[in-house]
Amino acid sequence: MALPSFADCRSALFDHRVRCTDIAQQALGVIQERNSDLNAFTHVDADSVYRSAETIDRAFAQGKRLPLMGLVLGVKDLLSTTEWPVTCSSKILRGYQPPFEATSVARLRNAGALLIGRTNCDEFAMGSTTEYSTYGPTLNPHNHEYVAGGSSGGSAAAVAADMCHAALGTDTGGSIRQPAAFCGVLGLKPTYGLVSRYGLVAFASSFDCVGPFARDPEVASLVLEQMAGSDPNDATCLDYSPDYTNTFTIQSIRGLRIGLPKEYYGEGIQDEVRQLVNQTAENLKSEGAELVSIAMPHTRHGIAAYYILATAEASSNLSRYDGVKYGLRLSGDEETSLSEMYINTRSRGFGFEVKRRIMLGTYVLSAGYYDAYYAKAQRVRSLIQQDFNEAWKKVDLLLTPVTPAAGTRVGKWGGDPLQMYLSDAYTVTANLAGTPGLSLPVGITADGLPVGVQLIGAPLSESRLFATGKKIMELAGTMP
Ligand code: GLN
Repeated sequence: MALPSFADCRSALFDHRVRCTDIAQQALGVIQERNSDLNAFTHVDADSVYRSAETIDRAFAQGKRLPLMGLVLGVKDLLSTTEWPVTCSSKILRGYQPPFEATSVARLRNAGALLIGRTNCDEFAMGSTTEYSTYGPTLNPHNHEYVAGGSSGGSAAAVAADMCHAALGTDTGGSIRQPAAFCGVLGLKPTYGLVSRYGLVAFASSFDCVGPFARDPEVASLVLEQMAGSDPNDATCLDYSPDYTNTFTIQSIRGLRIGLPKEYYGEGIQDEVRQLVNQTAENLKSEGAELVSIAMPHTRHGIAAYYILATAEASSNLSRYDGVKYGLRLSGDEETSLSEMYINTRSRGFGFEVKRRIMLGTYVLSAGYYDAYYAKAQRVRSLIQQDFNEAWKKVDLLLTPVTPAAGTRVGKWGGDPLQMYLSDAYTVTANLAGTPGLSLPVGITADGLPVGVQLIGAPLSESRLFATGKKIMELAGTMP
């Protein structure tokens, strides 16, 4: 069983053949059938879904026509909503009910989207497999021995398994693009600041981006268009409201200069991944695009800079979970002091990976080490930004792999965090530079695992990414 496409649901709704409550029922049916295997959703409250669907049906009956009516949306467990708790897949926030809604979520709800449930993720979005979740891992719909990727693995798997039309994820170092690639769907990390972070639980504030997962570029562009735009509640949010209405009317890619940065095509890439990325480049060339080999010399320092800066920001952001203001509070058996309460709550509330990051981040910020690590990493960040600025003088877009390998087996990275960190090499750079990246499905390996390619563009080039992305998927035969 699968949910019909958004286009089909929408026309059925607009032709009065179904109501939104019927769409809700169908989506809940698919979730019931598929979720026990995949663990993509961690919280689905049918009563609240039907209440929301009835609200949409009433608006429709009164003559309201909204752009996302008919769309079923999954929401990562990092974005606040007023109807469900937000837990960041962490024990420390179990049961925490936010008093407000994230701007991104509220805008999609106001545009007529039906929020269907919370999707699984790595605890506080720290990880690449969704295995660091208090709810257990999300499995890859294409092969249950493999992970769905992470940290937004639940959102990617939910879209791939047709449990919803689109889902929201967050991308701090690759958490939308990598699971999209692993699950064979499309995932966009927008330009930093294009979508408000208000109501998004912070991991690393200068990196965090909210973005969509979908099966086709048009649905992703619709979702992004509705949630983007300035927000007085987020000072880093850009004063820019995109309009993607004409994005897909321009079909030709003749003359488009596609950069192939050699640092993204080095050793360690799985053969089948390399082959499919090369095939994508050849397909674009045969359509008249120009392939340009370029150098981005600071790429190799991306991982080190990212894991210093992101953990530094995380150690500060996560200091608010002290047992006083949110969620879990663990005192001792007897009367305990305040600091014992902090220690108990934080040692037992946070999982292992989150504690590792807090310690790393605290270390790189500490007096005596600050200059050697944090300050230096900031300088590297500027150099990586410079690499991109130089690239935009020569090319319109960059084409790269999303990850070195097509997938990873459940449990493989458990004892080897370094291996997991290194697999982010091709995604963290766009976050360091604040530039958008789109992950697109282009094929399947002999083992049946999807492979993605990444298109990176200059800030606010989402329209070009979507249009070129659609062409890439058409040429690869991966359009739904
Ligand atoms: N895998 C990366 C990390 O563990 C990226 C996470 C993310 O983008 N949220 O930090």
